[in-house]
Amino acid sequence: MSLPTTPVNSPNSLPERDHQVVWHPFTQMQTAPLPIPIVRGEGSVLYAADGTTYLDMVSSWWVNLHGHAHPHIAQRLAEQAITLEHVIFAGFTHQPAVELAERLLTILPDNQAKVFYSDNGSTAVEVALKMAFQYWYNQGKPRRKVIALTDAYHGDTFGAMAVGGRNAFSAPFAPFLFDVDYLPTPVTGQEEATLELARTLFTDDVAAFIVEPLVQGSGGMIMYEPAVLAELFRLAKEQGILLIADEVMTGFGRTGRLFASDYLTEKADLMCLSKGLTGGTMALGVTTCTQAIYDAFLSDDRMKTLFHGHSFTANPLACSVALASMDLLLLEETQQAIQRIEANHRQFAETLKGHTHVGTIRQQGTVLAFDLNVGEQTSYFNHIRDYAYQFMLDRGILMRPLGNVLYLMPPYCTTDSQLEYVHEQIMALLASL
Ligand SMILES: *Cc1c(COP(=O)(O)O)cnc(C)c1O
Repeated sequence: MSLPTTPVNSPNSLPERDHQVVWHPFTQMQTAPLPIPIVRGEGSVLYAADGTTYLDMVSSWWVNLHGHAHPHIAQRLAEQAITLEHVIFAGFTHQPAVELAERLLTILPDNQAKVFYSDNGSTAVEVALKMAFQYWYNQGKPRRKVIALTDAYHGDTFGAMAVGGRNAFSAPFAPFLFDVDYLPTPVTGQEEATLELARTLFTDDVAAFIVEPLVQGSGGMIMYEPAVLAELFRLAKEQGILLIADEVMTGFGRTGRLFASDYLTEKADLMCLSKGLTGGTMALGVTTCTQAIYDAFLSDDRMKTLFHGHSFTANPLACSVALASMDLLLLEETQQAIQRIEANHRQFAETLKGHTHVGTIRQQGTVLAFDLNVGEQTSYFNHIRDYAYQFMLDRGILMRPLGNVLYLMPPYCTTDSQLEYVHEQIMALLASL
């Protein structure tokens, strides 16, 4: 089937039709420019309807690992689609769901014992929170408090919003969010202050402590060291507090190891996965937990059941592409590509160092971030963000600064020469300020 093509500027163009009927995420629809119609993707390149190409340096909202429309993933998807597209996951099961759970547990930290499926990162967090609260409830010793880090982001549903850092995005909903106590993110120089507050906040009425390990993504690619997080985990464990590692963004190689948790000497009790889980092909969420948490729900009393589920839980198509993505991720050549990008970033960071308009530079694995210093305060609403976004877009590069924070999070198939082009344009951006 081929659709007639329409010039982009005509009222019947796809962007105009989009504007008539679609409401986009995180978008002020009154002032947003028309969206760019993308017709095709291959490797790290997105192809627009008018032939323009974009190098995808944000891995399409941090989900893509191996490049767009990867043939191995596409083939697994096609095979699964003509075999079994979906089946209710209560009372029934299927090969892709079981195999994915088995294979996930072999690559996750040893203490993870069970896999619970949902639809996305936010639901993976909701499930972890519900498991944590009900773990205490089921034992007849309910704990109400949750501790999180300031500047955290855990998703946009209510529970996930509640444990995220409170900001302009969550302001309209503030009265409806449950109470959470916050620890300052233990960035370099802040470690002792965070540990000190943790010693007073970590008490035996705290149900859970949730973190994005090592990298706080949406908060502005804020990074902190494994040692201090391990110490926070150790302190929390002394009070029996359940630890939730939200690895929705950091999972599947982004930090240089398969999981950020792999850098930690203390392991979380619950882990949240999504985004890269399917290589960015389909929506799928996973919450994993220890045997002890799972066991707290086993009972002759039906009321101790985890009453949670989504219509598309463990969707066979999504599980199949997750398996295909894991095949690719574990290839020696992919692991080498991750190391190559990490080394490439490290070198570019050296180039950036000392530049007048470059503030703090930080890197964790394949994620490189730095502040654009233009004498204004850090804010998502800062106009430097729009300027930098457009500057790079005009040069065929998709970056999406978080306020004045510029970052690179490329798919692992991104070549050194593609990165070199991106670096040249970033230097041009800096020169233009
Ligand atoms: C993106 C993200 C989420 C939310 O995932 P969605 O699939 O967008 O709901 C949760 N936690 C972290 C750390 C994330 O980066």
